[in-house]
Amino acid sequence: MNASSRRGPPAPQMRRFASIEAGGTKFNVGIGGPDGSLFDQAQFETRTPAETIAAVTCWLDAEVERNGPFSAIGLASFGPVDTDSGSPHWGRLGLTPKLSWRGVDMIAPFRRYRVPVALDTDVNGAALAEWRWGAGRGHARVCYLTVGTGIGGGAVLDGVTLSGRSHPEMGHMFVRRHPDDRFPGACPTHGDCLEGLASGTAIKARWGDSLSTLGAEHPGYAMIAEYLAQACVNIVSTLAPDRLVLGGGVIGTSGLISDVRRRFDYLTNGYLSEFDAEDILLAHFSPISGLIGGLAIAERAVRHAHGSEPPEHLQRWEQQGLER
Ligand code: ZN
Repeated sequence: MNASSRRGPPAPQMRRFASIEAGGTKFNVGIGGPDGSLFDQAQFETRTPAETIAAVTCWLDAEVERNGPFSAIGLASFGPVDTDSGSPHWGRLGLTPKLSWRGVDMIAPFRRYRVPVALDTDVNGAALAEWRWGAGRGHARVCYLTVGTGIGGGAVLDGVTLSGRSHPEMGHMFVRRHPDDRFPGACPTHGDCLEGLASGTAIKARWGDSLSTLGAEHPGYAMIAEYLAQACVNIVSTLAPDRLVLGGGVIGTSGLISDVRRRFDYLTNGYLSEFDAEDILLAHFSPISGLIGGLAIAERAVRHAHGSEPPEHLQRWEQQGLER
């Protein structure tokens, strides 16, 4: 969906949220409402932490000047990032391959606005957006996989985004190698994990161009469809979602999703009878699912701040009768 088509003046009584989708190559920032509508947005290239964060806060400052304050900030960040609001390292980036960003505190620069801030992964943010307002709307359990320069996955299960001891790293799952694929893989850590074989980076490194430029007759096309179908089988077998939403530049290649669905059908061989290949959907908000999701994350920040519900990790502990 074109973001500009969603742009319009906010209803006077509508609460305004700031959303920041922090990506490894781009930062998207926007102002929107609790209904997922986006009033204004901007994009900045990811440079050094100081430069990039200054660009974002500068844009937000101008926005506050023009239209008044916003009431919460939702951050959907690349990772690895500590998403546990009970942790002393909450909001800090971990061992990202972007070396200058390692250890950066993603929350601190936004405390100056003196509004509640909440943070989740970029892919959990995208999953939230697609679950609430997009391709997975009306379903309780929605998984999201982005296939772009990198690969990552998130999930919303009964309204709660998926996190474990850390957040999931679905992009680094291992897949069965295609018999014709001699490429060693592009993942700096694993070589031929899913991201190492099927990301936009891997496609460019292996064939010198994007899949859409290579065309549907190129053997790489079927190979990538195969890897993504395997990833879909793994996700559906593990999490049993109602819908699996795919976003990102690679999956937007014309016709690729149909091939993924076809291979998914072949690989599952009728075993996942509750989940149909047609339940694999293209993201409605691509390429800004994460930015829209930031609005849902901001809303969560408000609810937590007002004490209407404890943070999700505390809810889970309470439900299980566990103590921190
Ligand atoms: Zn990997």
